[in-house]
Amino acid sequence: MQTKNIRNFSIIAHIDHGKSTIADRLIEYTGTLSKRQMEAQVLDTMDLERERGITIKAQTVRLDYQGKDGQMYQLNLIDTPGHVDFTYEVSRSLAACEGALLVVDAAQGVEAQTLANVYMALEHDLEILPVINKIDLPSADPEKVKTEIEDIIGLDTSDAVLASAKAGIGIEAILDQVVAKVPSPAGDRDKPLSALIFDSYFDAYKGVIALIRVMDGSIKPGMRLKMMATHKVFEVTDVGCFRPAPVNVGELSAGEVGFVAGSLKNVKDVRVGDTVTYADNPVAKALPGYRGINPMVYCGLYPVDSSDYDNLKDALDKLQLNDAALLFEPETSMALGFGYRCGFLGLLHMDVVQERLEREYNLKLITTAPSVIYHVYKTNGDLLKIDNPANLPPLTEIDHIEEPFVKATIIVPNDYVGAVMEISQDKRGEFKNMDYLDVNRVLIKYHIPLSEIIYDYFDRLKSSTRGYASLDYELTDYQTSKLVKLDILLNGEPVDALSTIVHVDRATQRGRQLAEKLKAIIPQQMFEIPIQAAIGNKVIARETVRAMRKDVLAKCYGGDITRKRKLLEKQKEGKKRMKSVGNVEIPQEAFMAILKID
Ligand code: GDP
Ligand code: MG
Repeated sequence: MQTKNIRNFSIIAHIDHGKSTIADRLIEYTGTLSKRQMEAQVLDTMDLERERGITIKAQTVRLDYQGKDGQMYQLNLIDTPGHVDFTYEVSRSLAACEGALLVVDAAQGVEAQTLANVYMALEHDLEILPVINKIDLPSADPEKVKTEIEDIIGLDTSDAVLASAKAGIGIEAILDQVVAKVPSPAGDRDKPLSALIFDSYFDAYKGVIALIRVMDGSIKPGMRLKMMATHKVFEVTDVGCFRPAPVNVGELSAGEVGFVAGSLKNVKDVRVGDTVTYADNPVAKALPGYRGINPMVYCGLYPVDSSDYDNLKDALDKLQLNDAALLFEPETSMALGFGYRCGFLGLLHMDVVQERLEREYNLKLITTAPSVIYHVYKTNGDLLKIDNPANLPPLTEIDHIEEPFVKATIIVPNDYVGAVMEISQDKRGEFKNMDYLDVNRVLIKYHIPLSEIIYDYFDRLKSSTRGYASLDYELTDYQTSKLVKLDILLNGEPVDALSTIVHVDRATQRGRQLAEKLKAIIPQQMFEIPIQAAIGNKVIARETVRAMRKDVLAKCYGGDITRKRKLLEKQKEGKKRMKSVGNVEIPQEAFMAILKID
């Protein structure tokens, strides 16, 4: 297809503003799938995902659309992962586009991730087309939202599409604006190949599939290509596009978006952000912006049943096939035995991996509390990068410790400014500035330790602002903080997997709260269990789990059978995820207790 008839665009939005629903309507309206097929398609995808344990990303889709000028256009809709964990992937997807639909909920207005996404789209010089969605809602106020977009973002909204993805309003207008306003891609099909990888996945039959945007040149089956960052050379077996199921085409040329498959078996060879070129006639320079993967959050994963250790390794290997951002290496804990230390892009990524390991691979796991990477400067001049609190050297060997900080952007209604400040201060945040977005909403910026963000910051923000706060953050720097390791001893024995790194000013309080919390979580056993919190050799808190009375059922006085059954079930439930540490049975919740303290 001639580049003048190609349009490459993304949809950007704050979560729940209707990105996916609009994408569905565009697919439907252009006849790419019928309504009935759409439902079938969604189900198929989920089945496949379950069967093969892979994520099929069909959201990048090619639409054929006849414009008002009577010409046929190839519209490539490139999906972006919405979550803050995947910011880099979003940025690569945007680098593959010339335009973006900015979807804003007509009842909610501009939110933190609306802004974050817009800034990213502006960095890539994209043409941004505002779409005000959900105008069917009784609480919709499109005029107010337009004003917000103009005032806060500085975009002209005189042509903004007023849409309801739910009611199917404004869909044709969106397509017409994409054709009229998004620039056609530049690029020359006769130049040597350069194509940007913006996503990848593993297919059991075809191996690794790279999603690409061809900048210059063209790709056909049989060609020998090279990845510029990983140096991997491969022969192309398939090229194609998504409709939204993968469909082979004869060629992908300059300006087009699609997939390429070849002799690629490992997602690590196919890195998002890398450039694909000819193996024999490569371009001199890779496309800009390539970055390696840096996990930000680490935790330990241990099988409840130690005989599952090999199964856990297999499962992690399989997940990694499709997730180059997942890192893991063997780790041994005195308390938990053999397991893996895993690195993730963020908390959502961590949750997704844990859930898949448990659901798809039937593993029962003990997960330790997530940790950031600390830079520990030792008195002998060494720098250690520590992602497991248990590995912190003794106090006497530490000169100082640095921890990662983020710039957090919070948007809330005026009434909640006090609440946001209180929580942020409590989380060691440093107030940066505050801007009024309009008469009743404010944007607040804080410089805040990442470790505090991963400890329930967002949950607390949400709950104390009745769900109105929206949050976005990005890593900015490492700074020195006065940090110490808080140890927990059960029965006089330190439990390494319960150690955490805390700020010295909060250490005593955290130690007390954690000991109390553990007392509530650890079930009574036949003997008394002392719980101690300690910093170095100094015990700062002590609690005791009393010994169990002989018979749990004794208090039921024989009569009530359902109550008895409930008690027994509760006991069984509790048994599910226990790990014996020494002779103490510790449930999963104990390892996460530190996250639940406020
Ligand atoms: P995303 O997170 O931006 O992808 O948002 P979704 O497309 O998943 O939509 C979030 C929720 O808003 C879903 O429950 C949709 O059904 C609903 N929704 C999307 N578009 C509209 C709309 O135009 N009107 C109304 N009333 N609801 C909508
Ligand atoms: Mg969605």
